[in-house]
Amino acid sequence: MSLIKAGLEKVVERIREAERVYGRQSGSVKLLAVSKTRPVCDLREACLAGQQRFGESYLQEALEKIGQLDNQDAEWHFIGRIQSNKTRPIAENFDWVHSIENLKQAKRINEQRPDNLPPLSICLQVKIDPEEDKGGIAPGELAELVAQISELPCLRLRGLMTLPAPSSNLESQRRPFRRLRELRDQLSSPQVPLDTLSMGMSADLEAAIAEGSTIVRVGTAIFGPRKPINQRSR
Ligand SMILES: *Cc1c(COP(=O)(O)O)cnc(C)c1O
Repeated sequence: MSLIKAGLEKVVERIREAERVYGRQSGSVKLLAVSKTRPVCDLREACLAGQQRFGESYLQEALEKIGQLDNQDAEWHFIGRIQSNKTRPIAENFDWVHSIENLKQAKRINEQRPDNLPPLSICLQVKIDPEEDKGGIAPGELAELVAQISELPCLRLRGLMTLPAPSSNLESQRRPFRRLRELRDQLSSPQVPLDTLSMGMSADLEAAIAEGSTIVRVGTAIFGPRKPINQRSR
């Protein structure tokens, strides 16, 4: 069996086990395979093993892969930093964006979304720990942003995403995820139902599932360690 297929099976097994242990409905947590920095042959292999959802962080690299895997039924999720002058290719080529950080980005992507495509599913990236240098929206700014973004017709606001600082302790891993779930519960309404919590990666997916994650973003545990950018052979 290929290493990637074996990696995928292991991760799916971890997800199903965590669903069971934490009383989540079986199948309620989806797997996003984070394929940033991986060559397109690795994605093909994952497709062959039945994986369809892929997460990419670097736009140029992502666009090449999307072009090359055109004939596969892949679903593309943008999870990286959004540069405001590069929103058009995101609007045109992706099915989901997890990393919206402000109204300006949302408005641009809304305007640039082609008419023949369904509304783009989006999550707002939230900065739970103010010390974190990863991007994200301060929790206090979310309510206003949710109200404004939910008016944009070519976007479909699905929920919240976070990228907490790594921690090896299950309890401290759970804390930011719990906070994200509480925020989602406060912000969700019949008018704007938020069905998505994008949280959990290779090292902390169990903690995220315990706290209600609906989609885990997993790279290393599927594809192996990532090479630093300057050592990639592409
Ligand atoms: C790289 C990345 C991941 C995957 O991290 P792993 O530790 O390799 O599972 C998840 N989310 C985001 C936003 C990432 O940039």
